[in-house]
Parts: sequence; C-alpha cells; structure tokens
Amino acid sequence: MEPVIVQRAEHCISRQDVSPEALKVLYGLKEAGYIAYIAGGGVRDLLLGRKPKDFDIVTDATPNEVRRVFRNCRLIGRRFRLAHVFYGSINIEVATFRSNQEPEEEEAAADRGLQRRSDEGVILRDNLFGTPEQDAIRRDFTVNALFYNIRDYSVIDYVGGLEDLKRRILRFIGDPQVRCVEDPVRMIRAVRFAAALGLTFDAATEQAIRDQRECLALANRSRLYEEVQKLFFSGAAQRAYELLREFGLFSMLFPEVGIWLGPEKGTPECRRISEALRQVDEWRAAGRTVSPALLFALMFGGMHEAHAGELAAQGQHKGLALHSVTMQHFGGLTERVQVPKVVRYRTAEILAAQPRLSVDGGGRARPLATRAFFPEAVAYLEFIVRLTGEHREALANVLAIPWDPAPDEESDPDRRRRGGRRGRRGKSLRTRRGGGDSETSAADG
Ligand code: ATP
Ligand code: MG
Repeated sequence: MEPVIVQRAEHCISRQDVSPEALKVLYGLKEAGYIAYIAGGGVRDLLLGRKPKDFDIVTDATPNEVRRVFRNCRLIGRRFRLAHVFYGSINIEVATFRSNQEPEEEEAAADRGLQRRSDEGVILRDNLFGTPEQDAIRRDFTVNALFYNIRDYSVIDYVGGLEDLKRRILRFIGDPQVRCVEDPVRMIRAVRFAAALGLTFDAATEQAIRDQRECLALANRSRLYEEVQKLFFSGAAQRAYELLREFGLFSMLFPEVGIWLGPEKGTPECRRISEALRQVDEWRAAGRTVSPALLFALMFGGMHEAHAGELAAQGQHKGLALHSVTMQHFGGLTERVQVPKVVRYRTAEILAAQPRLSVDGGGRARPLATRAFFPEAVAYLEFIVRLTGEHREALANVLAIPWDPAPDEESDPDRRRRGGRRGRRGKSLRTRRGGGDSETSAADG
C-alpha cells in the first residue's frame, strides 16, 4: 500500500521539538545508510502540539547493525530484540521494523532455535522483522502509527492516522474486535489515550471495547498493572474513571469495587472515587508525586472504610480492621491486576494509619512520623479533609510533625548504610510540600 506522505512544509513538526539525543540517533542511522523514523507517541504528541515523553525510533537496521553504528549502544531483551543508545542517563530506544507477530511467538520461535537473521543480518526467517508498512499496521491505534522521516522531515501515514488526529478520533487499526481479543490490554490503552488526549472513539472501536470487555480477565496481570498505573497517572485519571465505568471496564479491572459500586452512576460511592481521582490529577498537575500505594488508598479507601466500619461496630480495632480488609481485597484483586506486594502493604498501612492521624493529629499520630508511609498517610488525610470538611485541626497538627523515617524504614539503602537519621533533622511535611514529595515516583504515564 502506498502511504500518504506529508512534506515538511505541510506539517508542524520541527526538529527543534525533537530531543538532541534522538536527533543524534536518527542522523547516525541515516548517515550509515539506514531508514530512521520516529514512531508512535512521539509523532502523535508533536502533531498535537504536546511535549512527547520520549522518542522511540524505528529503523531497518537490525539490532546488531545498530550496535555497529553506535559505540554507546546496548542490546536488550531476550534474543536482543531492542537496541538502547545511551547519552549519559538518557536512553534512546531503537527498534527494528516488526511485522504483526506477537512478541511471545517470537520468543517461542527463538527458543526453538529459529533465529530471524544471522549476526550478519542475513534474513533467516523474514516474518519477524518487517517492512515499515507492516510495522505501522501492527500498532494499536491509527494515531499511534505515524512515522517522522529524518531523511526529508516528512510524516508518513499508512493507516489514516493524520486524518484521525485532525478529527481527534481514536480508531483501532484493522478489525477492532480482533485487536481487542488478541491483546485485551489495548482496551485500557484506548481509555488512556481518549482521556489524556481528549479523543473521541470511532464507533466500531467503541463497540468492540463494549463487546470484548470480558476478555480483560484473560490479560496478562503484570502488563495490566503497568497500564493501570499509566492510566491513572496520565493526568486525566478522573476522566479515565468515567470512561472505564461507561464501558464496563472498571468492574473488569476491580471486580469487588465494581460490585460495591453497583451499576448506578452518580451515587455517593461513585462520586467519592471520582473525587479521589480528581485529587490525583490536581496533585500531579501541581508537581506533587503520587505513589501507586497512595493512588490505591484514595481510590479504594471509601470501600475499605465502609467494610472496616462494619467490623469496628462489632468491636474490632479500626486500624487493624482497615489493614485486614485492604489486604483481603488485594488478595482477590491480584487475580486481575498484579499489584506488587510492597504496594499492597503500603496501601494497607496508609489506610490503617488514618484513625490515629485523624483523632487529634497529636500524641497518637506522632510515632507514625518515623514510618516511611507517613507522608502518604498525611496526603490521604488531606484528601479526606477536603472531601468531608472534617479533621481540619488534626490535619494542621499532623502537617507540623517532622517526618523523620527510621533507618530501617529508608527505601534508599545508601542512606541506611550512612546511618540514616543521624545528623539530619526531619522537616515537617508542610515545609517539604513546596519542593514536591520525596516519595519514589510512580511510573509516569
Ligand atoms: P506514551 O506517550 O504514553 O508513551 P505511546 O503511544 O508512546 O504513549 P507506548 O506504550 O510507549 O505508548 O508504546 C509505543 C508505541 O508502541 C505505541 O504508540 C504503539 O504504536 C505501539 N504499541 C504499544 N503497545 C501496543 C499494543 N499493546 N499493541 C499494539 N501496538 C502497541
Ligand atoms: Mg511512549
């Protein structure tokens, strides 16, 4: 198929918008005689006038050939499927054009000793590396399949992505029903791009997601966790939640919460989650880090508080009840979304700390200031104060407590070795707030 090629004069992408490192890689490949394109989200975001997170490069050079062009290059992945070119801490990913075959199939084939090409780049099996066209049509959405060609600065479009981008439409490449079934994670990606980029769904794409939502139960749980994080840290978490509910995807991801919410929209329970995610969006927009554990605490806190409240009414300790209902919920949830153990514990700790923090923010809260989760627990209380108007005074008191994590609470092993707290005065969270939280950042999405 002949692609649509838009020449430099007719599109808005300027080389100045491309990182110097990505340009070096593109020109390096070009000068060595290879095709070199920017692909995927980088082209899409530039055409939308947004700042891309990174630039992925595709080429007809094999990974081994890429390594011969760049000394600062490492091949990664099993069977060396990708090349990374390093400039200090900056890392540019270079992939060889691929055809539609699933990575798993590729790996299985490689395991059977079927190499695609010899080390010299001679094609042994040509169904893995592909042509630019094959590389475009294996991608998920038309807007994600555009190429920027460093040779003449043109944009190359095999799939109608330019037109869709102009009309702000998200459309699966190929048969949407098939694309959802063969990789259900794409349905979550669809929600992310629609929410974060303000795109509307093409009718057949929307229908396929509604029809195939149950396939999510079959998706790879670790990949779902990764995509769930990207979704809720995309800056459009609240909108993403509304879309997930709209498509019946929310209860596929979080079945127990889905049951708790019921089918009705606009209930106080629904609004509570929506407000929690609005808070996440606002904090992130203000440059504050939101950890995955804090995200889950905010999102599931309403349900856990309700369940723990019932146990407390029967005489159980509220904090312990919060901890156990949270862990119990995650126990079932990991059948869908593989939330790492450290995140599960941390979420439980954030919620279990709330009764102590919200009493008066004084004597019972103070010992928590040595714990690593303290800032997240306080952030949670901040949200509750905002949501309910209660515990204002407790929050003010808690914010004045210096956070001073004990050495064995430090996530940074170097600091633990240096002796942790000695010689360092903790700062109150109120002072720390200015420069953003010091919690380790979640994967950005
Ligand atoms: P972001 O800006 O969030 O990184 P992105 O479009 O670059 O968005 P990535 O997850 O980085 O998304 O993937 C890079 C590209 O790889 C996508 O633009 C798309 O072309 C392709 N891709 C990623 N995941 C899939 C998938 N599950 N199925 C098909 N193509 C995919
Ligand atoms: Mg990307």
